[in-house]
Amino acid sequence: MSHHRVAVIPGDGIGVEVIAEGIKVLRGLEQTAPNLTFEFTDFPWGCGYYLQHGEMMPPDALEILAQFGSIYLGGVGWPEKVPEEVAVRGVVLAIRFGFDQYANVRPVKPLQGAPFPLAGKDPSQIDFVVVREGTEGLYVGQGGRYARQQAGFEQWASLRPAFLQSDELAVQIGLYSEHGCRRVMQYSFELARRRAGKRLVTSCTKVNALNYGMKLWSDVFEEVAEEYPDIDHEWMHADALAMRFVTSPEHFDVVVAPNLFGDLITDLSATLLGGLGMAAGGNIHPGGIGMFEPPHGTAPDIAGRGIANPVAALLTAGMMLDELGEAQAAHLLNDAVADVVREGAVRTPDIGGASTTQEVGDAVANCILASRPQTSDFRPET
Ligand code: ATP
Repeated sequence: MSHHRVAVIPGDGIGVEVIAEGIKVLRGLEQTAPNLTFEFTDFPWGCGYYLQHGEMMPPDALEILAQFGSIYLGGVGWPEKVPEEVAVRGVVLAIRFGFDQYANVRPVKPLQGAPFPLAGKDPSQIDFVVVREGTEGLYVGQGGRYARQQAGFEQWASLRPAFLQSDELAVQIGLYSEHGCRRVMQYSFELARRRAGKRLVTSCTKVNALNYGMKLWSDVFEEVAEEYPDIDHEWMHADALAMRFVTSPEHFDVVVAPNLFGDLITDLSATLLGGLGMAAGGNIHPGGIGMFEPPHGTAPDIAGRGIANPVAALLTAGMMLDELGEAQAAHLLNDAVADVVREGAVRTPDIGGASTTQEVGDAVANCILASRPQTSDFRPET
């Protein structure tokens, strides 16, 4: 019997809508797999909570979450009401940093039947994973703003004549640690081994311009690569790599990227899947508590209309199952999503359909329920 306690943070905007479908589908799995049970506990943290309490989460949020096996999060943000940096730092980054979730894993394997933007390319040849470093780099929140009269202004302004003409300077520190680089790179090489596909790890860097942080990143990458002689390795500058995602996405297997570049290139790679509504993501600290969140945000432009695509959140739940050691249930879920997308009768407007969020969730849940043990070859975990 596997029982999993999951902390659920639906968040704001479409986060609430898509997570409801995720829970529905996980409940469907529970009925299908006799040995699998979930206990979901909802936490109403996010911008709504902020407007009531003046903080995005309570001060003991991390201690509360530490009692769970996993965290399932929708999206956090309400740009009209709460400054974006407050929203993102207050929940998503606080949890990523708090649980040291250094591997932000985003798979890119287009589903059959999903819209595909590249003419002359075969989507079935594309199968790679981006591992974005999740705790360091330009996201550490260090630096400052310096008005002309303030202490510190002179030190920075003296670097350039143009700086001296400014009334204000802002410094954003990108902090990279040898340990932080090494562990996410080792994770990536291990992943390439497990995938047993092209057995290639590509480092996304920018050492030509970012001469300290990316130099450390690249030096550590070469060291780590030596530990994995059975896995090929290469590096590309982030700009060239972005281009290759479009011109030859079939080239890649595992891509390891620093935090900001990883953020950028995974919105790009999501387009290969049919858009942000189709892309899954998980924040992982091996052996620790993971947070599984679709890489899309709260999509304020479509929030509340019942048309958000829940596929990203459903595949994200599949990643959570995998990480919880429920590979068979994850397969079942992923297969059900793939069936629904391939059949194409039920799909949301972003991928060319007219169905609602709930209808897609229902279709996937029904697909799972239709494969109950008595009607399929479902084998309980051994
Ligand atoms: P946030 O500030 O919370 O990150 P955002 O404004 O960056 O939100 P995203 O959520 O990243 O918006 O979405 C970017 C675009 O992709 C929007 O036009 C949105 O409607 C679309 N989009 C994102 N997720 C989905 C989804 N699940 N279904 C349909 N469209 C989506």
